[in-house]
Amino acid sequence: MSPRTSSPARWRFETLAIHVGSDPDPATGAVIPPIYQAATYAQESPGHHKGYEYSRTANPTRSALEACLASLERGDHGLAFASGMAAITTTLYLLEPGDHVLAGSDAYGGTFRLFQQVLARYGLAFSFADLSEIEALQAAVRPETKLVWVETPTNPLLRIVGLEAAAEVSHAAGALLAVDNTFATPYLQRPLELGADLVVHSTTKYLGGHSDVVGGAVITSDEAIAENLRFHQNAAGMVPGPFDCWLVLRGVKTLAIRMQAHQRNAELIADFLIGHPRVATVHYPGLAHHPGHDIAERQMQGFGGMLSFEMEGTGDDARRVATRTKVFSLAESLGGVESLIEHPSSMTHATLAGSPMAVPENLLRLSPGIEHPDDLLEDLDRALSSA
Ligand SMILES: *Cc1c(COP(=O)(O)O)cnc(C)c1O
Repeated sequence: MSPRTSSPARWRFETLAIHVGSDPDPATGAVIPPIYQAATYAQESPGHHKGYEYSRTANPTRSALEACLASLERGDHGLAFASGMAAITTTLYLLEPGDHVLAGSDAYGGTFRLFQQVLARYGLAFSFADLSEIEALQAAVRPETKLVWVETPTNPLLRIVGLEAAAEVSHAAGALLAVDNTFATPYLQRPLELGADLVVHSTTKYLGGHSDVVGGAVITSDEAIAENLRFHQNAAGMVPGPFDCWLVLRGVKTLAIRMQAHQRNAELIADFLIGHPRVATVHYPGLAHHPGHDIAERQMQGFGGMLSFEMEGTGDDARRVATRTKVFSLAESLGGVESLIEHPSSMTHATLAGSPMAVPENLLRLSPGIEHPDDLLEDLDRALSSA
């Protein structure tokens, strides 16, 4: 008898990331399962098949990714989508006309646009509040609130929302709590363990990790919610192709070591920026003065890879720095192995200009990659000093 007691239920994060959904191919022994680039499946007799009929409904490569992502979030059910926005849209199909959604006021711009400009036309009501204040959450829920939508850390100011308290208030109000866990990743934060009902991801970011694929996912442990989502995944059809699923599955195998490297670089950069004469404020939850530091320390296993900072000076100074870095590319998105810098008020958050949710013009957001930290620090120092 083998003394091994190892089983997926007890495996640790790194092992789950590499093995769940990636059993050797039974037909050939290939250690990496094939990309099932097939739209339809032969049936033995009408209605009798091996679990796959048509690839919008289910595809083996997608099933492998869905199982892996569910295990990483410690959830029972995973669903993969063609993008983060497709995952969010399908999640909102859980609601009925007349229902109200309360979301964080610094929600991802695409989420904000989807809620306000698309789904509000179909009888859903949306309102926004600074959910990093639990009293604000409490005050903003309504009798018809059916869903509370949280991101933590938030974008681009890295505010922290206490998930246990948010789950308590949401559930007391009769609402589900959904957490967009794109920034933290399940390596650093597992919202289902803190009381959330649904976890949503843009797998385009850290999970894919190489800026070469767009994808999304939803994970839940609630059987009825999972069934409802699976129905809409098939009915609306916003599904990823097999190759994109395979790319994300390949990406998550290195998620743990990548997040350690991203986080180490973010910490070093935060410390460097705090001491820099051209920098006014640094937003990083790992800093002791950050307003969400204590909650982040409790609910996360690390403070993450993202940070932002406000420059001494104007929006033009910030714009100049963004064009002068050489290792950091000036680009939207985040979470890839290569470092990115962006100017939120004229890029990711431009549509908020003039609104109460507008971000400061002197703010720059960094997504440090996993290059050598000294090259990143030298790059930033050069760009800041010459701007
Ligand atoms: C990028 C992003 C999304 C949208 O995902 P796509 O894959 O671009 O559709 C949603 N939420 C957050 C926090 C994101 O960063």
